Amino acid sequence: MTDICYPNRHNLLSVEQALLEIRKAIEAVTEQELIALPQALDRILADSVVSPMDIPPQRTAAMDGYAFAAGDTAAGQQAKLQVIGTSWAGKPFLELHVPGQCVRIFTGAVVPSFADSVIAQEQVEMNGDTVSLPLDWQPYKNIRAAGSDVKQHEELITAPKKLTARDLSLLAAAGVEKISVKRKLKIGFFSTGDELVPLGEPLAAGQIHDSNRYLLAGLLSDPNHTVSNLGIVVDDQFKLEQTFKSAAQQHDVIISTGGASVGDADFVKQTLEKCGQVNFWKLAIKPGKPLAFGKIGDCWFFGLPGNPVAVLVTYEKFVKPGLEQLAGAPATQALRLRVRCDSALKKSPGRQEYQRGILCQSANGELVVRLAGQQDSHQLKVASQSNCFIVLDADSIGIDAGETVTVEPFSAVL
Ligand code: AMP
Ligand code: MG
Repeated sequence: MTDICYPNRHNLLSVEQALLEIRKAIEAVTEQELIALPQALDRILADSVVSPMDIPPQRTAAMDGYAFAAGDTAAGQQAKLQVIGTSWAGKPFLELHVPGQCVRIFTGAVVPSFADSVIAQEQVEMNGDTVSLPLDWQPYKNIRAAGSDVKQHEELITAPKKLTARDLSLLAAAGVEKISVKRKLKIGFFSTGDELVPLGEPLAAGQIHDSNRYLLAGLLSDPNHTVSNLGIVVDDQFKLEQTFKSAAQQHDVIISTGGASVGDADFVKQTLEKCGQVNFWKLAIKPGKPLAFGKIGDCWFFGLPGNPVAVLVTYEKFVKPGLEQLAGAPATQALRLRVRCDSALKKSPGRQEYQRGILCQSANGELVVRLAGQQDSHQLKVASQSNCFIVLDADSIGIDAGETVTVEPFSAVL
């Protein structure tokens, strides 16, 4: 076991300290793969990309109108210009012109070489093949210079970055067809518990459906993961040991739920100790106190608690940052907002709490949160109805209705 101090009076590691330990321990995978752009959404860019070209590649019109040379017309005069052709988007006008002539042009069309100005069609008067400019026409307007978005050889996207739809359109604009991304993580997960029954089988007395694997399958769904659902393992140390060892050989990360506490049927921590190393166990967080983090051979291990809401909280707070770090993604941070809470919140000092809340926005934009319901860690319906965590610091003793609290909306990260 590594040497970590447990500063909490209950011998529990704080949330911040645990996160720090995870970040210190895990190093990003180094292997990369070359993939085509349509497969790249949400993948982690491994090598920065430099633009092979100017964007836009040529001077183009910013609006529909008429392209002309400002020098052909004295400012402050109501000039008349003869329209000698059209520059369409994709079909430039290539013919020569003489002073006093102009070209009909549309947004995105190449500006003919003689022209340095485009005037919007609403601003001119048409008469046959002649347009009249207004007295207040302005030179050099409505033209996008070549490279005005990106210059050739300029860095388009700096690695590492989780690629967004905006990034993909930028890469496509530059004609980049393939990019290097970090390889996917191989992640295996399973549930432990004699009481668990998979969906589709009848429940005998004392049995419950295994809901955690559905929660984890959803939380782990990410194009950077190759996920294997390893089923249910009974509360038997030998079986657990076999599963740990074989799963560790085939995955970068394994995640278990249940059996992480100190009951007579809780074997996760001691099995982890036997097969590998325990970096930490037992955190000052609610829900989710028993969480074993360690390693078996080259495989990282997260032993999450059994209660489904504790799985949700510990996944978001510890597993997700750990997976991001291993995948080589830049670290993200949950968006935190300070908002008024319309519910009184009960809390005993000692552990940081993640209560399930419902965050609403009024018509004038004011954010208000309320408790989603009761806060026991088996209460999945309340979790299902919630849309945020209400975060209460370890030493908080709760709040009265109307006080300001910190909330973390689900899925909003910076
Ligand atoms: P444990 O950590 O194994 O003591 O489990 C704590 C609580 O979570 C018990 O009430 C278990 O029945 C419940 N639990 C454990 N695993 C699951 C699971 N996969 N799905 C739903 N509930 C579970
Ligand atoms: Mg159990």
